[in-house]
Amino acid sequence: MPDRMLQFVSILQQTPAKRAAGDRRHDFAEIYEEYAPPEAATQASRCSQCGIPFCQVHCPLSNNIPDWLKLAAEQRLEEAYEISSATNNFPEICGRICPQDRLCEGNCVIEKGFESVTIGAVERFITDNAFAQGWVKPIRPRRERPQSVGIIGAGPGGLAAAEQLRKQGYQVHVYDRYDRVGGLMVYGIPGFKLEKPIVLRRWKLLEEGGVVFHLNCAVGRDVSLAELRARHDSVLIATGVYKARDIGGPGAGLSGIVPALDYLTAANRHGLGDDVPAFTDGTMDARAKRVVVVGGGDTAMDCVRTAVRQGAASVTCLYRRDRANMPGSLREVKNAEEEGVQFMWLAVPEAFLGDTGVSGVRAQHMHLGLPDASGRQAVEPVPGSSFTKPADLVIKALGFDPEDLPGVFGAPELAVSRWGTLTIDHRSFMTSLPGVFAAGDIVRGASLVVWAIRDGRDAAAAMHAHMQQSAPAVAA
Ligand code: FAD
Ligand code: SF4
Ligand code: SF4
Repeated sequence: MPDRMLQFVSILQQTPAKRAAGDRRHDFAEIYEEYAPPEAATQASRCSQCGIPFCQVHCPLSNNIPDWLKLAAEQRLEEAYEISSATNNFPEICGRICPQDRLCEGNCVIEKGFESVTIGAVERFITDNAFAQGWVKPIRPRRERPQSVGIIGAGPGGLAAAEQLRKQGYQVHVYDRYDRVGGLMVYGIPGFKLEKPIVLRRWKLLEEGGVVFHLNCAVGRDVSLAELRARHDSVLIATGVYKARDIGGPGAGLSGIVPALDYLTAANRHGLGDDVPAFTDGTMDARAKRVVVVGGGDTAMDCVRTAVRQGAASVTCLYRRDRANMPGSLREVKNAEEEGVQFMWLAVPEAFLGDTGVSGVRAQHMHLGLPDASGRQAVEPVPGSSFTKPADLVIKALGFDPEDLPGVFGAPELAVSRWGTLTIDHRSFMTSLPGVFAAGDIVRGASLVVWAIRDGRDAAAAMHAHMQQSAPAVAA
């Protein structure tokens, strides 16, 4: 075990072992292995304990990274877990799926050539180890409060808020239209990035800590927002964004053209052992099919890699810009390439071919033109460059917008932005409805798990302050 920090000059960066592409193509297990304790300590010891830690500055949760790295290096793992979990409700999840290259690790100051500290992998190790050691315990509030909160949405935003408020002793009720807890962490993100038991054990822990879940309960259908407002002292809306952006054009209505989230949800449910008719009848199964995925974000990467694992005959990703301008994580692009996905950069679908079912995509090559007002290079077609890509399954992964929440909730007075996201006061996290707060993707638009956790924590603190004002007699 290293006896001091700043070891980056002599110890090389070592990411956790990655399973070989030929092996991981056949299952949905995570592709990165866990550090063994000595490896975690050695890698943590590479940190130079910066006075102004830019890693922390660029972590949405302001995690106290240098402190838990030092404790991990000294193998004081219970203390490392205490520090790590003080600012993050789900460190083992962020350690797995944060785009660290754009956040903490991308801002680690270790000089180029020595490579950053593997912050995410150490963070994951600390909490996985804490679970294994039995250090992760259900919430036991110091006192029970009579006030109750209703949280709509059991994704990371809603769950982080639920945990924070339960710790304060509130009676916490979480409502979700799905049958499982976790939101996109369960039904969107595939198991090869985040295995489902990792999320589901958090569900169990929250229940053991007294959080009450009302599942298969869609607000706006099974219960109204007005009823929840009458039932609870405060309400949090954390419903995420689910309306898929669509592609038009000739043939867009052919069968065999499916939205990304429907496809990923079917795959995740199948993996969880559910009976999924759209999977069983082949609609959402890529087996033996020539698959074309349209889009270049993380959702598109999850689709191509899911199709590989389902045994597709070929998998192609069409993206309108080039590799350098992809919104998705480059680490995921590399993983997809290793697994056999073909990328066609600077290509846009013009039409979908086929009689009733899709049989191909006619696409056009593009080139990048001058930057527009936002500074992004415009995408322009290359005349006469059309080509056809045979396809039996086309997956549309073009991003998500919010549903019409005021309409769904029957609450026209709920203010939304011009993009349909909920408008909140950024200090109080309150929507235009008194006592109704909001957090996560439904406020930001499609974002990241770590930002949803941050919002959930901030909203919980604001709800606590609000309820304290309303009931000074039960002040902490
Ligand atoms: P969600 O996770 O969407 O949860 C919202 C919950 O609200 C859901 O459970 C939903 O059922 C429920 N709900 C909605 N409407 C109602 C209603 N009317 N009544 C009751 N319940 C309702 N982020 C990363 O950081 N890393 C990644 O690798 C990553 N990969 C992704 C891959 C895919 C395919 C997708 C789609 C997203 C990915 N993201 C990733 C983004 C991340 O999942 C989201 O930013 C995050 O889950 C948002 O959290 P949330 O709590 O706001 O909403
Ligand atoms: Fe990095 Fe995400 Fe962990 Fe923050 S939460 S330290 S950004 S992996
Ligand atoms: Fe350690 Fe890098 Fe963070 Fe500095 S920026 S404290 S070296 S992890």
